[in-house]
Amino acid sequence: MGVTLREIVHDYGSGTASGKAVRAVQVGGPLGAYFPTSMLDTPLDYESMAARGGILGHGGIVVFDETVDMARMARYAMEFCAIESCGKCTPCRIGSIRGAEVIDDIINRRRVRESLEVLRDLCDTMKFGSLCLLGGLTPLPVLSALKFFPEDFGLTTADVDFIMQDLTISISGTGNTNEIARR
Ligand code: SF4
Repeated sequence: MGVTLREIVHDYGSGTASGKAVRAVQVGGPLGAYFPTSMLDTPLDYESMAARGGILGHGGIVVFDETVDMARMARYAMEFCAIESCGKCTPCRIGSIRGAEVIDDIINRRRVRESLEVLRDLCDTMKFGSLCLLGGLTPLPVLSALKFFPEDFGLTTADVDFIMQDLTISISGTGNTNEIARR
């Protein structure tokens, strides 16, 4: 506890498996937030992760090199939720399937602005309407990927700011000031 992500990734982990540059780090498991390299000085402890919108979760850390497509990783979070869903509540059971579909729409430039609005509302509903943390945490990797890697979705920072401004859950700030919080 307390060592930074940078120390873990570079000193203990020797960077990426491929030897290529680090682009993103996911902390806490498949539903943890994605951190950009600008946030690697974040200490690995409960409070620091929470203050930056992340979770410590089960402590798993996955390092992605510069070839990663973060839009695909966001879609994967929805797919993971759909596969693992027990089906008891609608936000998780149906929301995860619709989430993968709407991310496909954004990636393929179909009704982008409308699709972003749907994704925003969907993440909000999943976060606060799911009965357990499978559905409740799935927006975390989706929204952090959108916030920090908008270019992988074919989006600009302004596009992302458009959806973030009306989220009940919001990701605000950049670099070391990222925060996901209830407004
Ligand atoms: S959020 Fe939890 S309870 Fe609801 S469908 Fe998903 S796994 Fe089941």
